[in-house]
Amino acid sequence: MEIINSNQTYTEMVNEMRKLLADTMHRMYEHGFVVAAEGNISVRLLNNQVLITPSGLDKATVSPEDMVRIDLDGNVIEGNHKPSSELHMHLAAYKLRPDVNAVVHGHPPFSTGFAAAHISLPSSILPEVTALLGDIPVVEYGTPSCEELAKKVEPYLPSYDCFLLENHGVLTLGKNLQHAFHRLEILENSAKVTLIARLLGGEKLLPQAEVEKLRKKSQ
Ligand SMILES: [Zn+2]
Repeated sequence: MEIINSNQTYTEMVNEMRKLLADTMHRMYEHGFVVAAEGNISVRLLNNQVLITPSGLDKATVSPEDMVRIDLDGNVIEGNHKPSSELHMHLAAYKLRPDVNAVVHGHPPFSTGFAAAHISLPSSILPEVTALLGDIPVVEYGTPSCEELAKKVEPYLPSYDCFLLENHGVLTLGKNLQHAFHRLEILENSAKVTLIARLLGGEKLLPQAEVEKLRKKSQ
């Protein structure tokens, strides 16, 4: 679960998560990682319930009360709105990865540019990318908001934490919401750095021994 404190009631914990989701969605909007009603984030709650952002609402102004509580089959338990239309992708991550407690999906322009060009990002370009993101697969295109997209992502979920979604955007997983959000921030920054390095003649990757050292350190 995301945060649990023995003195907290379940309702208090859910309310805390509602606020955290709204604050993180606003950060996504402010950073330009999403525009309009795009993007969706979620956290795993107790009893394998999930709190997810609503479908179709302006992500600059989405409020804690707008969040929707669902079960792992996507049934709404509590909420005044429809859950995100990308819920299948989120639920697939929670079902296949017990270590994952938060999922973030957005369309940040630099990494989405690589996804649109079907060009992968090198994970050994910067130490933090090597250590915190690992390899980043390019997932074959699936129609957004359909189960088809979740089916395309599923084979990659057991082995990776960050994904480029062809002609669409990016997806990151984490042990908590901050972890998943930071991965998306680092992913977007690495796409910027990769693009600039290529304008300057091409990136020089970290040596394999350094990659192994960084990965060992981050385990
Ligand atoms: Zn999307």
